[in-house]
Parts: sequence; structure tokens; C-alpha cells
Amino acid sequence: MARVKLPENGCSEDELFSQMTENHKGDANWKDGRTWSMVYNSGEKIMEVVKRAYLEFMVENGLGPTTYPSLRRFETEVISMTAHLLGGDEAVVGTMTSGGTESILMAVKTARDLASESRGIKLGEGEILMPSSAHPAFCKAAHYLGLHAIQVPVGEDLRADVQAMEHAITDKTVMMVGSAPGYPHGVVDPIEALSRIAHERNIWFHTDACLGGFLLPFVRKLGYPVPAFDFSLPGVTSVSADVHKYGFAAKGASTVLYRDEKYRHHQFYVTADWSGGIYATPALAGARTGGSIAGAWAVLNFLGEEGYLDLARRMMTSTKQLIAGINGIEGLSVLGEPEMTVFAFGSDTVNVYALAEALHDRKWHVERQHLPPSLHMMVSPEHDTVVDEFLADLIISTDQVRHLDASEIKGLAAMYGMMGTMPDRHAATEFVRNALSQLYNV
Ligand SMILES: *Cc1c(COP(=O)(O)O)cnc(C)c1O
Repeated sequence: MARVKLPENGCSEDELFSQMTENHKGDANWKDGRTWSMVYNSGEKIMEVVKRAYLEFMVENGLGPTTYPSLRRFETEVISMTAHLLGGDEAVVGTMTSGGTESILMAVKTARDLASESRGIKLGEGEILMPSSAHPAFCKAAHYLGLHAIQVPVGEDLRADVQAMEHAITDKTVMMVGSAPGYPHGVVDPIEALSRIAHERNIWFHTDACLGGFLLPFVRKLGYPVPAFDFSLPGVTSVSADVHKYGFAAKGASTVLYRDEKYRHHQFYVTADWSGGIYATPALAGARTGGSIAGAWAVLNFLGEEGYLDLARRMMTSTKQLIAGINGIEGLSVLGEPEMTVFAFGSDTVNVYALAEALHDRKWHVERQHLPPSLHMMVSPEHDTVVDEFLADLIISTDQVRHLDASEIKGLAAMYGMMGTMPDRHAATEFVRNALSQLYNV
């Protein structure tokens, strides 16, 4: 394997950027609305504002809130605005983090530490109870923090099964989880019922609103039905909401909120015995760029409620058109009843992985899911220009793969099919672990 070495001499700025631009051309093209994941495209004007705010504070360090009072102000105001948006009263507090995964990791750690202190639940004993649709970040947090992830199958409507969740509670349950909405199918779990059960038993309840925190409140204001999911429910202890998703901030910006200071207290890490001085951090990161904090603050203030409502209206219109169009194609159907702009579609007759390949040939990027097989759609404001083109290509692509039999499914499509059906889930994860090693080698 040939090592790439640090060049002896630097290259010119022109050469550097021409190389980078060349490389960029091989990436998924989100600017033209061809990708249905990874990027939340709010349009050039909003992105320019975020970029400007990010660059202005890129060098400043969020590790030093007293050195940079500007960042302290931005962060506390982002938390305050988010808490207000999510039904929080004056007592709700929180911190910003680098993303949904870190927000979830922090909420889980905080619940674990409180359970250890107040209920004597020892390291390695605690359980996190979640629907099978909850984001893998909860399993990852359990894995990192010495907890057991208990995944309860969702009901036929793809939402958390309240009875099954209730039955799975033990005296070791340190947290119950519901999503608003869940990533795979975009449906909101019955948070009211789940959080009531948790409340009655004095168990921590976390609403994962990473995806919906900055969209569901506006979708509701537009008149669409959105069930209660946030601090308006007395049993909800903590909420995660990503500003870098439907808040349209630059990546590296999420929030984790707690009903009361007495919970957040357990999140902080402080050591007073280091020769470098007293060291205290609110969340996982040490040094962190001021860019993502400033970007989040900027976009919230630039858009305001009216701006978010306009974007939500555009996205909901596109989503309704897409769902109607997809359901109108023979053999395809949208799974469950998604509340907002994230959904999946599957088929009993068409191999959806072969369909993803056919769409890829037409330069569309859709994520593949399994258990059951489906394709994932996440709608951004700028997608309103491509809805018709996508649906037309989807009709053609579906017809192309409609009559393939199993032996004709090859390449990536065959691999996805195999991964979903391998009975040995450990072998399946080892297979991916090895693939990941290959990907990250030069
Ligand atoms: C994206 C997402 C996460 C994880 O957030 P990252 O920012 O990718 O770390 C967690 N939960 C849900 C529902 C999400 O959609």
C-alpha cells in the first residue's frame, strides 16, 4: 500500500483548489436536488448567511465561553430559542453539541449517572428501552457507556408499540426513548402514552427530536396534524434537536435540552486536579469551532418563525406530491403515515435495491434501508424544483426493474438484499466492519 506522505513543499493555492474542485465533481450532487439524504438544502441565500457567520467565528474556540462571550451568548440563545420552540418553560436548560449523536450520548450519560446516584444502578447493569426504529446513536451510547440497549419491535403502523414497551420495563431501566419522528419511516412515536408510563414509574424519558425538532412545530402551525412530543408533556425529561438538520445550520450544531437544571448538572465534566488548571466542559468535545455555534445562531435569527414556516410549507407541498406520486406507481407504496417530510417506500413486487441502482444511473441518490427493504426520502426546500422530474424517472426506473428475477439482481443491490436477510447478525456486522476498514485505508 503506497502511503500518501506530507509533501515536502506546499503547492500553490491555485493548484490546491483546482485539485479539490476536481475531486468535488465525483460527489453526490445536492445542489441540483439529486440527493434525498445527507444534505438539507435551503437554497443559496440562506446558505450564504450561514457560511458567512461560520467563517466569521471559525477560529474562535467554544471551549472558552469566558474568553469568547460572543459564543456564550450565541449558544445560550440557541438553547433558549430551541427550548421555547419545544414547549419548554423557564426551567428548561441545555447545551449545544456537535450533532445528534453527541446530544444523545450526553442525554444517555446524564440519565445513567442520575440512575446510579439515585437508584444505585451499577455500571454494566442499566438498560435503555427503545423502539427498534430509534436511531443507532442510542445503541452506540449504550455500547460506550456500559448500558444494555433493549430494542422493542415497532407495531404494524411502524410506531413504538406502547404495550410492548411497557412490558419490557425492568427495575434496571434508566431511560425510555421515543422519536419525533424516527429516521427510517418518518413517523412520530406515541410520545404522550410512552412518557406517561415513564413518568408513573419515575423513569427518565427522552424524546429524540433530532430530525423533527426544528420542523414539527412549524408543520403543526401550518395545520397538519402533529401529536404532542415535547416538553408540553410532563413526562418528557430530555429532548435532542439538531439545528444542522431542519434548522438549516452548518453541520456540527445540535442541542440537548433538560426539563430542569437538576438533570443537566449530571452532564457536566469537571476536574480540578490538572496542572493545566481547572478543566470543565459541558459536553463531550474539548476544543470546538465557534463556526457551528455562530452559524446556528445566525440562521435562527435570519429566518425567524416566518422564514421557517415558509420553508416548511414548501417542503410539505413537495412531500405530499411525492407521496401521492409514489403511491400512484403500480407496485410501490409509502410505508406508514409519516407526519412530516421524511418517509420511505417499499414494494412487494419490485426489488427496491435494483430500483435504487436504476435511479442511480439517472443520477438520483436515495438511501437504501432494510428490515423491511425500502428506499428513504428526506425532502428539503429546494427539492420543489425536481419533484416532477424525479417522479417521471421513478416511473421509468420502476418499469426497468419490474420484471427482474432474483438471479438478475447483481452488485450493490444483491449485497443489500443479502445483508438484510443474513440470519447471523454478528456475521453481518463483521462483514460491514471489514468493509469499513477497506474504505478508510488509502
Ligand atoms: C440524524 C439523527 C440522529 C443522529 O444525528 P447526527 O447529527 O447524525 O449525529 C439521531 N436521531 C435521529 C432521529 C436522526 O435523524
